Amino acid sequence: MNLIDGKKIAAEMRNKLKVEVDIIKKKFNKVPGLTVILIGDLAPSQIYVRNKEKSAKEIGLKSEIIKYPKDIQEISVLNKIDELNNDATVSGILVQLPLPDHIDKKKIIERINPDKDVDGFHPYNVGNLSSGYESSVPCTPLGCYLLIKKIEPNLSGKKAIVIGRSNLNGKPMAQLLLKENCTVTITHSKTKDLKNECSKGDIVIAAVGIPELVKADWIKKDAIVIDVGINKTDKGIVGDVAFEEVSKVAKALTPVPGGVGPMTIVCLLKNTIECFKKSLK
Ligand code: NAP
Repeated sequence: MNLIDGKKIAAEMRNKLKVEVDIIKKKFNKVPGLTVILIGDLAPSQIYVRNKEKSAKEIGLKSEIIKYPKDIQEISVLNKIDELNNDATVSGILVQLPLPDHIDKKKIIERINPDKDVDGFHPYNVGNLSSGYESSVPCTPLGCYLLIKKIEPNLSGKKAIVIGRSNLNGKPMAQLLLKENCTVTITHSKTKDLKNECSKGDIVIAAVGIPELVKADWIKKDAIVIDVGINKTDKGIVGDVAFEEVSKVAKALTPVPGGVGPMTIVCLLKNTIECFKKSLK
């Protein structure tokens, strides 16, 4: 079995992006900038945002976090997004989710200029992705896609099973694979006989949030298995795939942690640089 070392692949990508940022600085005398809006004090969100800022700074991006208390009014956030949309030093804007209940997520996402939408959640980008056009792509599925392409550059005709249909993971993942001419099945909580569906996959992507749901006898021999899940359990963080047993049948498998997670962050950096490049056109 080929262990897909997301940490190593992400580090290689980060090095290349750092070189790209250096070239941008020299050529344009400008620095691509990422601004993250963090609302409230949820511990995981604070950790994610801190990691994003650290990684952005490491490759030489300008990085800023705007923090608001959890009772901030929606209009104040919308006004700030307008300000950032008009700020030429800001290439990418990310509003960390989840948001407090009184703030309308859809309204917030739709307010971000699609050209600065580093998360790829704006309906304009979602539409472009599903139409097969160039678009900003959500960071986690983009990271999964790049890992899959490392293992198997030609995906045409492969059967891909995506477990989970969230806007964050499952749906954009399916669109990326469809664009690569895979035959894609999207499964979810109402899917009948998930095991049977999975067992047909040359590629299986699990983005569910159920610890070790996917077992060895769900997986076709020599399939590529990508585990998006991050689940806290008594034995520590585990994915959606039963790693030990699936590693005996899969051709390639991502570990948790150290698989998809590091790719998510590096794809955010990549998206920020792409947004900067768009701003030059
Ligand atoms: P989500 O929004 O909760 O979506 C979960 C999906 O799984 C839903 O489509 C749901 O179906 C489906 N599902 C639930 N139970 C199922 C079952 N028994 N069989 C088949 N499908 C089932 O979750 P998410 O945001 O996509 O995240 C999924 C996992 O990825 C979580 O563990 C999360 O922590 C992790 N994650 C990791 C990263 C990373 O960087 N590695 C980034 C983001 C998220 P319905 O639509 O029918 O409800």
